[in-house]
Amino acid sequence: MLRFLGLLLAFIFIVPLIRMVTGLIGRAFVNFTMGPKQAQPQRRPGTPPPAPAGGTLRQDPVCGTYVSERVAVTLNKGGQTHYFCSAACRDKFA
Ligand SMILES: [Zn+2]
Repeated sequence: MLRFLGLLLAFIFIVPLIRMVTGLIGRAFVNFTMGPKQAQPQRRPGTPPPAPAGGTLRQDPVCGTYVSERVAVTLNKGGQTHYFCSAACRDKFA
């Protein structure tokens, strides 16, 4: 009986783990087949909508995210404009 309970407990812990792993693999597969731009990540309610399309994409030198010039946080340093996804990244860079 105890053995059965142990097995049941193990099962309860393992099932969500497997689900999580398969979910991650599935998402990675979608990214791989469709490209990261077309794979729309599921947004939680309350999060801001994705950046409006348009404008030149610039790479954030801190975190590597591509961000549109229109919505990027900018910093002028040495006569060059740097583009960041957020003020936090800009502060890290400065
Ligand atoms: Zn960033």
